Amino acid sequence: MDAISYERAGDIAGAVRAVQQPGAVFIGGGTNLLDLMKGGVTRPVRLIDITHIRGLDTITTLPDGGIRIGALVRNSDAANHALVREQYPLLSQAFLAGASAQLRNMATVGGNLLQRTRCGYFYDTAFTQCNKRTPGSGCAALDGHNRTHAILGASAQCIAVNPSDMSVALAALDAVVRVSGPAGERTIAFADFHRLPGDRPELDTTLQPGELITAVDLPPALFSARSHYLKVRDRASYAFALVSVAAALQMDGERVKTARIALGGVAHKPWRASAAEQMLDGRPLTQATLRDAAAAALRDARPQHDNRFKVQLAQRAIVRAVNQAAGRAGGVA
Ligand code: SF4
Repeated sequence: MDAISYERAGDIAGAVRAVQQPGAVFIGGGTNLLDLMKGGVTRPVRLIDITHIRGLDTITTLPDGGIRIGALVRNSDAANHALVREQYPLLSQAFLAGASAQLRNMATVGGNLLQRTRCGYFYDTAFTQCNKRTPGSGCAALDGHNRTHAILGASAQCIAVNPSDMSVALAALDAVVRVSGPAGERTIAFADFHRLPGDRPELDTTLQPGELITAVDLPPALFSARSHYLKVRDRASYAFALVSVAAALQMDGERVKTARIALGGVAHKPWRASAAEQMLDGRPLTQATLRDAAAAALRDARPQHDNRFKVQLAQRAIVRAVNQAAGRAGGVA
């Protein structure tokens, strides 16, 4: 059994200092970290408990009309907060699509940003080939079971997907991640927070050593009237997405003024479907245009041997989610 020491941080500066000790990691809700520790995937020697730091568990309005969600806000509290429900229903839906009620009650917003892939080979240490767990060891998923793996943005080193629902909505909403670290505070645009695997699949994010996520900022709500989070999965609850779509629209009559589309379950990071957005912006929302946009979103897809179905599934999910966002509940999919 590994010996693990525990330390409770009283403030952000203390937490940042403490985590610079060898083998130290932050623990918040612990819903992913404890699984990783029990399976021997992660072996920290020091846990820095950040849950008692004051001021990180609130949701507040910002001077520009946006909102700030503290990193320690529990997923269920964020999903049910009036500001989130009324102004960012896309985000509320995404929270509620994730995990189970019990896990949402424990998991924090900051922890959700950092949850690791659910690739089975990553979690099962009996498989020695996993570049994400052991850099340079190979990737068992390439020739193994890869039905749930990436179809966009993968590399020969890793084909894992990011499992977060919340992050797909945050990508569509152009959130900003606030962090504090040894070099001070900084903000990270959401598109730059999670990484593609490239040749460093062990790195999920662009966080620097010792940096603590303190909050997520959302810009003023533009899409509260028209948005939809669609999650396609193997069972109705407590399952990760095969494909998910966060769709948000601003309409000018029948014409799309602005479209935001992000995909989950398809890549190592929440995947912003920029090509599809560009095809919709400024055009009447016809089913033909929407299908063309969905096809453009998947144009660069490179499926694995078990997950070719995901390409068409993602296209159909985009069509359905955008139709739902536009208030066309029976939209073609
Ligand atoms: Fe590991 Fe990534 Fe390959 Fe899964 S896909 S076995 S996480 S390297």
